[in-house]
Amino acid sequence: MKTTLIIGAGGVSRVVVHKCVQNADVFGRIVLASRTLSRCEEIKSELPHGNIEVAKIDADITDEVVKLISTYQADIVINVALPYQDLTIMDACIATSTPYLDTANYEHPDEAKFEYKLQWARDEKFKQAGIMGLLGSGFDPGVTNVFCAYAQKHYFDEIHTIDILDCNAGDHGYAFATNFNPEINLREVSANGRYWQKNEDGIGEWIETEPMEIKMVWDYPEVGEKDSYLLYHEEMESLVKHIKGLKRIRFFMTFGESYLTHMKCLENVGMLSIKEVEHKGMKIVPMEFLATLLPDPSTLGVRTKGKTNIGIVADGIKDGVRKRIYIYQVSDHEKCFAEVNSQAVSYTTGVPAMIGAKLMLEGKWSGEGVFNMEEFDPDVFMDELNKQGLPWQIKEL
Ligand code: NDP
Repeated sequence: MKTTLIIGAGGVSRVVVHKCVQNADVFGRIVLASRTLSRCEEIKSELPHGNIEVAKIDADITDEVVKLISTYQADIVINVALPYQDLTIMDACIATSTPYLDTANYEHPDEAKFEYKLQWARDEKFKQAGIMGLLGSGFDPGVTNVFCAYAQKHYFDEIHTIDILDCNAGDHGYAFATNFNPEINLREVSANGRYWQKNEDGIGEWIETEPMEIKMVWDYPEVGEKDSYLLYHEEMESLVKHIKGLKRIRFFMTFGESYLTHMKCLENVGMLSIKEVEHKGMKIVPMEFLATLLPDPSTLGVRTKGKTNIGIVADGIKDGVRKRIYIYQVSDHEKCFAEVNSQAVSYTTGVPAMIGAKLMLEGKWSGEGVFNMEEFDPDVFMDELNKQGLPWQIKEL
């Protein structure tokens, strides 16, 4: 029987654990380890029929993770803690020759970089250890990369442009809250925007914009028209390397008026800063303090209504003819909550994390080294999405 080690016990983890238990024949014994043991116990208590053990771990310390992996003889590590722990957990996987999967690129707590550099730099060590590391197996990154690979495989000789379109039309009733870890979410949306395109000489370059500078209105199926803002998002960094003939890639996300107004005010007074400030003789990081004040994303599920729609629009050439297709997935917050006690943002991240791990354990996605999602055959992943609760649609535009 396999042993699956899941690190982190937040919103995404809850979904991963539920889904691994639903696929117990593949995942076997589940060890759920996190910084706060009571959060692991809470998730375990929701699944009395599951084969789950819990453990306490500080995943910032590589040696502790090595010890944990060795104690339980894990066959795979699913990292759904925070991006700050990616490198320590990857290093522990190298030391113990254990396959690794995560859902977000590494970030240093003091400086948001949104890049894969330090994780890709471990490729050689993963090869030497004879193991596979799968990076970004959430929805975006994750499913969006697989959608691009699927479009490339079945619909195009060359894709010229890709727009990734992420809409969360859910309403949790709060004036301001984030749907996943507030620190990570607010860093991402308050940063400058960036997109990639080839210049006249055919050289790809990143074009930087002010935060929320570029806006378009997109009509999301089953949701309706929404203001969508250009952001930088990490999957673009790997897609520009792997999608043939690409000339431009952009990422858009929807935001409501209330969210944007709050963000602007918080930014204006310095509350989104990740630099330490002195307060009454203590050092505090404003963004961390704000995260403490905001609702815990894992408590939003019970009150969130509405849908998410995330997809990609690819434009290119097939047999000399121009083609434009839209692949997207719609999830309903209330349905997700009814199934796994989590809202759709955690659900749409946790299900692909489980699928990536399932394909690795089954040997359907295999390799030695560090990989992004679009490097594997998308068909098996697309089949699993339909079976595991994330059915998708394709439209020719
Ligand atoms: P949460 O904040 O809800 O959960 C994070 C968990 O990690 C908490 O249980 C936390 O412990 C634990 N943790 C933090 N630090 C450590 C540590 N040093 N050692 C052990 N455990 C630790 O986050 P989410 O569930 O919302 O997000 C999880 C991951 O998913 C993040 O990396 C996020 O960026 C990513 N994500 C990816 C998406 C995608 O589509 N690709 C979309 C959304 C999220 P404690 O309970 O003590 O705080």
